[in-house]
Amino acid sequence: MTTGAKRDYYEVLGVSRGASPDEIKKAFRRLARQYHPDVNKEENAESKFKEINEAYEVLSDEQKRAMYDRFGHSTPGSGGGYDPFGGGDAFSTIFDAFFGGAGGGGRTQRGPQRGADLRYNLKLSFEEAIFGCDKEIEFRRLETCPTCKGNGAEPGTDPVRCPKCGGSGEVRQRAPLFNMVTVTTCDSCSGSGYVIPMPCRECRGEGRVRQSRRITVKVPAGVDSSQQIRISGEGEAGPRGGIPGNLYVALDVQPHALFARDDNDIILELKLNVAQAALGEEIDVPTLDGTERLRIPPGTQTGQTFRLRGKGVPFLRQSGRGDQIVVSRVMVPSRLNEHQRKLFQELARTFEPEDQGEHDEGFFGRIKDALGL
Ligand code: ZN
Repeated sequence: MTTGAKRDYYEVLGVSRGASPDEIKKAFRRLARQYHPDVNKEENAESKFKEINEAYEVLSDEQKRAMYDRFGHSTPGSGGGYDPFGGGDAFSTIFDAFFGGAGGGGRTQRGPQRGADLRYNLKLSFEEAIFGCDKEIEFRRLETCPTCKGNGAEPGTDPVRCPKCGGSGEVRQRAPLFNMVTVTTCDSCSGSGYVIPMPCRECRGEGRVRQSRRITVKVPAGVDSSQQIRISGEGEAGPRGGIPGNLYVALDVQPHALFARDDNDIILELKLNVAQAALGEEIDVPTLDGTERLRIPPGTQTGQTFRLRGKGVPFLRQSGRGDQIVVSRVMVPSRLNEHQRKLFQELARTFEPEDQGEHDEGFFGRIKDALGL
């Protein structure tokens, strides 16, 4: 897969645009089996597998699919619409598809349960969010107990079938009057079907212990506050050997001393003195990539904008960048030295009354706007 243009999701799964949910599911299962990194050792198998998962995540969801059909990969409001980091949750998707999890019949209490999801708040500098970075983070989570390997039994002993329910996890009781059978979860084993005669000393039979975990988070270029990165399988271990939950890294981007951000555009306020504004000048302005020469034309007013194309924030997981928008602000000097005062007085005598702006509708329009008239 190339990193540039994204392939069409229907093309990825090899189905027509009118494919039924069942056809999409079948195509996904077939391809996921073929390209699962545990099975397929080809060089591009993993990226292919991710691509397949991403396509399936969107096309298997009625709402996401409708959005995708209308807007393609540039689905608006992707923060709320669908996950911009789609495809990261490969394991839960494949689990659901193979074992009929969410959306299907639902898992019963028996057998392995999925571990809890975790959330980590990650502070990023303005530049780190814009250009991406690798961040090492450390957090505590429940991990499968290394002593008992998660089954909760002291090494050398084994869990045994629950004597009360015989391993079914359910207790059936016959109500004699109506000849009805009620089925309840076995309270002796909590529905698991087994009990532990000798609980593991390290985890006290829980099968999990709290441990510290250190990982490196790859932050892609172009992220912003209020977004989160999903790292599948880095949440807590599931009880009784269940699959782990996910880690959600919530991003908190710090402000910059000079620049402000408007999605993928960078806003810079440029202060001009009255002479620069009136006469025009070529000025070196700071950008994310160093300074850039900007031509200020004569007669520049406060609030006038200049666009430096491609000097903004990289688009998330796409090629290209936004722009830098330079907003001028003309500064009237609050203090003059003797020489400057004389020059301004001399200048003042050269202005005709109409130069004061009486004929400038735009000027009065701005005043009216400012006063709310
Ligand atoms: Zn243990």
